[in-house]
Amino acid sequence: MLVLIGIICVRTGLQTGHAAELVIPPWPWYRTVLGPQNIIVVTVEFADAKHTQPRSYYEDLFFNKIDRYFRETSYNQCWIVGDITNKWYQMPKSSKEYVLGRGPGFNLYAVWPFVEEAVLIADNDVDYSKYRMVVIVHAAEGIGIGYSFVSPVKTRRGTFLLSYVILPEQRILQYPGVPPHEFGHGLGGLPDMYVLTPAGTADTVFVGQWDQMSAAFSMWRHFSAWCKIKMGWIQSHGMVETRRGQTANVTLDPLSVAGSGVYALKIILTEKMYYLVEVRQKIGYDRNLPDSGVVIYLVDESKGRRADESPLIVQDATPDTATLDDSAYDLRERRPAGFFDRGYDVSVVIVRRRAPTWMSYMLFTGPVARGEAVLQENKKALPTMKILQEADAAIQRAIVEERTSGIDKAKLFLGNASAAYNRGAYDDAATLANQARNAAEAAFKPVVSTVTVPLTQTTAVPTVQPSYASYAIAGATAAAFLIIGLVIAKRRKKTS
Ligand SMILES: [Zn+2]
Repeated sequence: MLVLIGIICVRTGLQTGHAAELVIPPWPWYRTVLGPQNIIVVTVEFADAKHTQPRSYYEDLFFNKIDRYFRETSYNQCWIVGDITNKWYQMPKSSKEYVLGRGPGFNLYAVWPFVEEAVLIADNDVDYSKYRMVVIVHAAEGIGIGYSFVSPVKTRRGTFLLSYVILPEQRILQYPGVPPHEFGHGLGGLPDMYVLTPAGTADTVFVGQWDQMSAAFSMWRHFSAWCKIKMGWIQSHGMVETRRGQTANVTLDPLSVAGSGVYALKIILTEKMYYLVEVRQKIGYDRNLPDSGVVIYLVDESKGRRADESPLIVQDATPDTATLDDSAYDLRERRPAGFFDRGYDVSVVIVRRRAPTWMSYMLFTGPVARGEAVLQENKKALPTMKILQEADAAIQRAIVEERTSGIDKAKLFLGNASAAYNRGAYDDAATLANQARNAAEAAFKPVVSTVTVPLTQTTAVPTVQPSYASYAIAGATAAAFLIIGLVIAKRRKKTS
């Protein structure tokens, strides 16, 4: 007798228009994902649908590629280990006889017989008590592009509560972003953050492209800070928490850069609701993001049980455009640097980006009036940043052109300019950056000594002070020529 104790996600019918998102409480069931994640991959096929990829393809996908993905996105706090069955088990019925491929009537109760049979068909070869998650890769197209849920299963070694990720082979090849998305469900119990339209297409109305738990079907990117907090990857030292009414200055590092930084700012509004602020840069698995900057979510922890809601809603910096690709706040032209919620009297304002890499952001949070004042005080931040960037570009140009004499002076000026910028001394920063640029433009190619000496010996010339050795040999050679010359002159004198 089957009891489905938790159902996370059913992705169905993206191509066929057979939409069916089914959610049965209790859900979501967040779980930390730390240390080794032991998974078993069971590969199955049917009499009417055979696999197309070799076992090595999936070995590489799960234990190399996805392992690498989880290592990076968790800051090396979790990794994928485990096993893959050494054959493709043939299911007793054809793919058509299972619920696979039947879109409109689909529900997880209907698909469970297939999943249970796939688990039990490998029961003699697999000790399921060892694993945290079962990944079933099956031949044929499947009911959707992948799905995940939790259920106990009765095996020969006992009954175990397992989570499952079901991945149809054809869909993995078609939608490479699906496996890590389903792993987010299966390992972390994370909810979906998109909604299926009646037409069966995925609508990314909640968080756009900013989270792997959104409609992430074509690419891999980092999970949002919210998911990372749930999975235990961002802990209290990586997060700053304030409440509405409080003020704070916080420097946030990009979510995709491992380090000891602070990755999230949480501004508590009510018992269940808060703003969550993160910084995204196109680095690592975030390199394919549509944009970069400060991303702000309104979080409602009571949401996410139903398929038509998400616990996260991105706060769009450019609500006049139809896309959420440009929803990040930033310190740049035509992009707001301040977010204001006048209802809750909360603001988040970019004070400055941190020199010299410009990837981390210093933020202010506090009541709206204070935030507006910070925004006014910071009119010089952006133009000064540009002056520093121009100086840096001048230095890079000099290096490319091999004009390295005087470049150290330019770098020193720029270093001082960055330090001044980071403490908000914009006038000093601009002056120093201009000096850096002038020094870089004045830098020249070093003159290389062209003294050539006919060396007959093969012993190496000391490299520490080559000029001394060169001069000594040159001197000795000159002396030798002088003596020879004198001897010849003497002989000529004699013979004349
Ligand atoms: Zn999903």
